[in-house]
This record gives sequence, structure tokens and C-alpha cells, in this order.
Amino acid sequence: MEKRYFQPEIETMPVEQIKALQSERLVKQVQHVWDNVPYYRKKMEEKGVTPADIKGIEDLHKLPFLTKDDLRDAYPYGLMGKPKKDCVRIQSTSGTTGRRVVAFYTQHDIDLWEDCCARAIVAAGGTEEDVVQVSYGYGLFTGGPGLNGGSHKVGCLTIPTSSGNTDRQIQFMVDLESTILCCTPSYAAYLGESIEEKGFRDQIKLKAGIFGAEAWTQEMRQEIQNKLGIKAYDIYGLTETSGPGVSFECEEQTGMHINEDHFLAEIINPETGEVLPEGEKGELVFTSLTKEAFPLLRYRTKDLCVLNRKPCSCGRTHIKMSKPLGRSDDMLIIRGVNVFPSQIETVLLNEGMTPNYQIIVDRVNNTDTFDINVEMSQEMFSDSLGKVAEKEKQLVASLKAMLGIQAKVHLVEPKSITRSEGKAVRVIDKRKLYG
Ligand SMILES: [Zn+2]
Repeated sequence: MEKRYFQPEIETMPVEQIKALQSERLVKQVQHVWDNVPYYRKKMEEKGVTPADIKGIEDLHKLPFLTKDDLRDAYPYGLMGKPKKDCVRIQSTSGTTGRRVVAFYTQHDIDLWEDCCARAIVAAGGTEEDVVQVSYGYGLFTGGPGLNGGSHKVGCLTIPTSSGNTDRQIQFMVDLESTILCCTPSYAAYLGESIEEKGFRDQIKLKAGIFGAEAWTQEMRQEIQNKLGIKAYDIYGLTETSGPGVSFECEEQTGMHINEDHFLAEIINPETGEVLPEGEKGELVFTSLTKEAFPLLRYRTKDLCVLNRKPCSCGRTHIKMSKPLGRSDDMLIIRGVNVFPSQIETVLLNEGMTPNYQIIVDRVNNTDTFDINVEMSQEMFSDSLGKVAEKEKQLVASLKAMLGIQAKVHLVEPKSITRSEGKAVRVIDKRKLYG
């Protein structure tokens, strides 16, 4: 059994030892930041904290938070922990929600990041026998480079297809007999749909998929697993924390083990900043423990989730985080009600709809309008129009039961919503145009 683990000495370490390791590394990481990142040192000074106050993880709460605003203020080089000559790479976010985040890596940072991704691949059943198709975007986006490096470390034959060119993706998948697919969940769903249409379902050899970089529900997992005949594993990470691989699912599929030797997680009350006990829902905060070029202490992710350290059947002892229950950034406030797109996805898939949908919010005469376009399956589309009206009514009722507000549901023709090859555009909030 031990052979299956990439780093069993770390991943199955007794909890007390993990905490001791974290304490030791935190002390060093704080000193490194204090010595090399004047921006954060100033924040510590303002709070009256020095490295001498941080003796272990029990003192973590004394440190100031870092937020996305800090990253913007310090852009581009303000949070760098090593001189440029020691750094070998940057990765960056798309910058669609404001100024982009640029993260820096030394070769040591890249090695550790790839180790984390390798653990995720092993946890999904990957070995040197596997053919891993990496259909995340390559380039500035962390998805492609991270999983690519992890796949090399495990010794898998790696196909760096990057995202897009769906026909070629499927061709490679068939010809080279890919066994593990890595991409966004929405692209996995699209690939599943295209494979079915082309009649290639019997010719693909996929057994597992590692999907992340966007929010997805359990219902979406089921949909992908059925379409592709695989086990679908979740993976989590942010450019700020190096990329995917901060945490990943094992075969239990009940949350993602955090790589605790590199990342220290906390859950806080997003309103007050108070640290919450294990098991409570709140905002996820990460502290890097081993990073050189872009160390972040107490970085607020804006992701809402729950941590738990119940023993896992896989043998790993690292704490697990739930699938983010919603990103505070993603939450829509429609007519005063909080709505998460994931709630809508759950309802649509439970009602047997396709995972191709779009949420459109606007403001007309000072009232929020709330429309959901969802594609019919080919089968439903061929049915009579009367049934469509009936289904729309049923969806409106189910959505109202889940969200507490009325949406307008439009069943649209198959293929009328643009497919995404990277992160899907699920929400169009036109209210933002008016400021
Ligand atoms: Zn596990």
C-alpha cells in the first residue's frame, strides 16, 4: 500500500508531528518575510508584532492578514521575498476582476509546487504507467504548468495539449490512450459531450480526471463521471499560493487534503477576522511555510469552506478542506438575497438539465432582473413545446425553493450557449456596467 504514496513519510505523518513541523517552518518563514519583504514588515510593525512573538503555529493569529488589495498595492514587486536574480518564473491570473496577480518562483518554489501536484496525481491513482493529458491552459495560467510538472515527477507520459482545439484533444485521447485528464470541470463536461456526439465513448481509456480552477458542484461531478466513465477528483489552489496542488482529493472524494507541510490553513469569520474552530464554516486563510520568492502570511482567499481532520480511509493525515461553498467574490446579491451560482447549478442538474447554463442579472427601473438560460438536451428539444413550458415552470419552482427568489428560466436550443475551453463564463452581471 505504501508504494502508492508519493511521499508517505510526510503525507501520513502523525498529526502532532505535522504541527511541530509547521511550527518550525512558520518561525523561519516569518523571519524570511520580516527580513526580505518590507511591505509586510511594515504591516507587522503597525500591529506591534516582531518575529520574536511568533514561536509556533499557536501564535499565527498575532500576524496581520494579507488581502487581494495588498497584492494590488504591492504590485508588481512589493511582496517579493527574493531578488530578481534568484527568481526563475512568474505566473499570473487573468486579471478579469481587477488588476492581475503576479506570483514569483525560485527553482526551489517550482520544485515544491510540482511535488504538491504530483501528490494530487498519485492520489487520483496515477503511476508511471499512466498517460496524463493536461488540457489546462499553459502559459501565464498556473493550471497547465503545475499539473505538467507534477505529471513528470510521477513519471507519467505527459501530453501537454493545453486547452482548446477539442477535436485534437479527443484524437490524442483516443490515439495515445490517455488515462488521466486534467482540465477545468466545465471543459471536462464539454469534452464528455463532444466524445459522446462523435461516438468515441468506447474508444477512450480514461480512468480519472483532476479538475479545478473553477467552482463545481457534486452534481457536476456526477455528470462528468457518467459522461466520461471516470472518477473525477477535485484539486484546489490559487496563483497567490503557487497554483493548483495546495489541496487535492483522494479516492474517498470527501474533501481535499491540504499539503500541510507547505501550507497552514485557518478558517476565519469574514466579517470580524476572528479565527473559528475546526468544523465551522468561514473564509479560508493560507500561510505559506516554505516559499522563497512569494511568501504570503495569512492570505485571505475569499473562499468559504470548512476544515476537518477526521481520519481518512486513504491513510493521509493532512487536514481536509471542503469544496469551497462559494467564493465571496462570486456571490450575487439579487433583490437583496444572496445567491451563489453553485446553488443554481445544483438545481439545474438535479432537474436533469444539461450543465450548459448562463445567469444574467440586470437592473431595470431600479429592480434587479434575474434570468437563467439553460440548454435543453437534444431529446427534450425534439419534444413538444408544451413540455418545454411545463419544464420551465418546474425549474422556476425548484429554484425558488432553493434561493428564495423568483428567476426567469429560458430553455434554449442545444449548442446555443458558447462552450468554454478554460474557465466557464457562468454569470453576466450587467449591473456592474452602471457602477
Ligand atoms: Zn484521504
